Amino acid sequence: MKAILFPGSGAIEHITLPKPQPGPGEVLIEMRMSGICGTDLFYMNETPQQRADRARVIPGHETCGVIVELGAGVTMRQVGERVVGFHHVGCGHCHYCRIDVPTQCPDKVVTGRTLHGSDAQYIVLPQHGAFPLPDDFSFEDGALLSCNVSTAFSGLMKAEVDSFQRVAVFGQGGVGLSAVMLANALGARVAAVDLSDNRLALSRELGAELTLNPARDDVPDQLRRFGGGRGVHTVIECSGSSKAVEQALASLGPLGKLVIIGAGDSHIATHVGVLIASEIQVLGSSVYRPGEYEPMVNLVRNKQLPLHRLIGGRFPIDEAEEAFKIAARQDIGKLLFAWNGAVV
Ligand SMILES: [Zn+2]
Ligand SMILES: [Zn+2]
Repeated sequence: MKAILFPGSGAIEHITLPKPQPGPGEVLIEMRMSGICGTDLFYMNETPQQRADRARVIPGHETCGVIVELGAGVTMRQVGERVVGFHHVGCGHCHYCRIDVPTQCPDKVVTGRTLHGSDAQYIVLPQHGAFPLPDDFSFEDGALLSCNVSTAFSGLMKAEVDSFQRVAVFGQGGVGLSAVMLANALGARVAAVDLSDNRLALSRELGAELTLNPARDDVPDQLRRFGGGRGVHTVIECSGSSKAVEQALASLGPLGKLVIIGAGDSHIATHVGVLIASEIQVLGSSVYRPGEYEPMVNLVRNKQLPLHRLIGGRFPIDEAEEAFKIAARQDIGKLLFAWNGAVV
């Protein structure tokens, strides 16, 4: 099978490996669509020393395909099923797995990090890490649901976003654009912040009524006004920038919630007195709860959300260099790898 590796310092290595075999309790998925995530760019640009053993692990964690083989003892899934891969698969029986938070499982496997990932023709996953993709969703939809849309959904659920809220979303990559679309679908009034006017135009199309570019706008001032003078109820931080975190805190009203999703090397620098006096909550949010998958699917279906509009381009894996180069510019929508020419 075709796959790629990130040996380090921005390089991409194309490799051919034998088709993998599913072990007991595992399924073999033939990839149809996989996605390029912000974290992939981060990993690609690590040094070879930082990559260490992961240099030989196939990257990618946004999986959508068809089950083509079952390992021994698989009872939950069937051959021919269209599925979405979950990327932090827990052991299934520890405390965190039992409370539906496998991201905190001490024995979890993470595709693209500890387990071969989605930038490959096939992927092997534990059966409980493959979620059924409903028939009315395309493979492209599935790749978007696997990470960006689900991560955004989980962040919005943590902030209990509803139709009474004014929400600001910082960073208009795949997760941020998804958060704009979903917050709008939940009835909130939404503002979007990004350094790319191109992306802000897309944010507006997806439901942001106010778009701000920190290169020329006073973001906290505008967002406080957007929040009726008090500030916004919720900020979903998807940019991974320290400056954005600082502006986000300055944009929140009393009792506001800052949900941090954007991975990077950003830091929070604030006087804790601000958090105490205004009773602001800062929440980290990693991936999503498996139990959120079905409510998310229902929201997308009920509101007929046009997920395909998040997509900025589709590439074969042979053009991975070009795809990652465009993704690194951070000024268009989501980029996908199409496998076997599949579009639906
Ligand atoms: Zn992702
Ligand atoms: Zn566990």
